Amino acid sequence: MSSDLLIRNGRVIDPAQGIDARADLLIRGGRIEAVGENLAAAGVETFDAAGLIAAPGFIDLHVHLREPGFEYKETIESGARSAAAGGFTSVCCMPNTSPVNDNSSVTSFIVERAASAAVRVYPIGAVTQGSKGEHLAEIGEMKSAGIVAISDDGRAVADTNLMRRAMEYARDFGLPVVDHCEDCCAKGGVMHEGEYSALLGLRGMPGAAEDIQVARDVMLAELTGARVHIAHISTARSVEFVRGAKARGLAVTCEVTPHHFTLTDAEVHRSGYDTNTKMAPPLRSQADVDAIIEGLRDGTIDAIATDHAPHHANEKMLEFDRAPFGIIGLETALALALDRLVHGGVISLSRMIELFSTHPARIFNLPGGALAPGSPGDVTIFDPDRAVRIDAASFESKSRNTPFDGWQLKGGPAATIVGGRIVWRREREITEQTKID
Ligand SMILES: [Zn+2]
Repeated sequence: MSSDLLIRNGRVIDPAQGIDARADLLIRGGRIEAVGENLAAAGVETFDAAGLIAAPGFIDLHVHLREPGFEYKETIESGARSAAAGGFTSVCCMPNTSPVNDNSSVTSFIVERAASAAVRVYPIGAVTQGSKGEHLAEIGEMKSAGIVAISDDGRAVADTNLMRRAMEYARDFGLPVVDHCEDCCAKGGVMHEGEYSALLGLRGMPGAAEDIQVARDVMLAELTGARVHIAHISTARSVEFVRGAKARGLAVTCEVTPHHFTLTDAEVHRSGYDTNTKMAPPLRSQADVDAIIEGLRDGTIDAIATDHAPHHANEKMLEFDRAPFGIIGLETALALALDRLVHGGVISLSRMIELFSTHPARIFNLPGGALAPGSPGDVTIFDPDRAVRIDAASFESKSRNTPFDGWQLKGGPAATIVGGRIVWRREREITEQTKID
């Protein structure tokens, strides 16, 4: 699996070590051996990264790979290829498969399937059996089998007492709790509750549905001392609660998806009820997006995660009310972050790499997130300036449910390296590369 590779002439940015310099990067035996100028290694394959940025491999804390049970939407193999094509070297897959990953045999199945996948795949176990919110799952056994966190993602853990007990177990097992925050006052809603839901005559999910649970679980984090990671944060108030939790020194972190920092609920109207604008949490108001942007800028938001949620075209071809929630994101995330956040003047390249790699590694305690000697030889190479046109038809994912098809963006991935092996590289990246300084 592991191999040797010399990445030459790139601009190496590693926030964990404070490195931002033109340098070579040598990987041997699947691990980082050295970062420095004019490295030489006889007989080692080289990758010319001139004009490109080399960063510690990107880690997506939140994907749905649909296997076992929904292989017509995605498989571990196709999802991992999609991740590689998006510049991700590791992904963490949610347990809402069929059967649900709520016991060690499902965890072991995923780990075995992942062994031959293009990127590293880390399973997340369910909080409760069947994610039904009634009885705790076998958290300790799943941890032994390889889970890196617990979550009932797709659903909220409504029972406060059960969530408290889950946090206590998770704390004792050293696992973060990934929190899908959606109070039952969102029930029946299909988009954000606001002027557009009123205009379109669609049932709304109020921002308060998210805020209520974030507030509750910040308090439970304080009560239990557990590490709580808020999934796909989408409202201004939630960002405020996380900011307050951090100020009090709690182990509360959060992630945002590219669609929640890029689009508002106006997109449901503009697109004419395109079901690829339907996801949970829903696209929110401009005020919410403004608060998300501020949270990205000031450090309140720790990570960018895609919530990659593949669905078959036939499933999304229903009326807005009846279509399933979710969009795919692995192959659009980096371009959206570069275009909207970096070129948009919100954050620096280094801060973007923290959000995609440094922090995700720390939050889930995963290998990687740095290019220090001895770290896994996982590297994301990207071109911050290349003109990109999103073409859903060419995605490696089995599904096509994206609202970004046809978008023109600036910047995108060039190559993905896992354990020193090039698992994906953009064709023509040599001829089309552009100058970066
Ligand atoms: Zn979720």
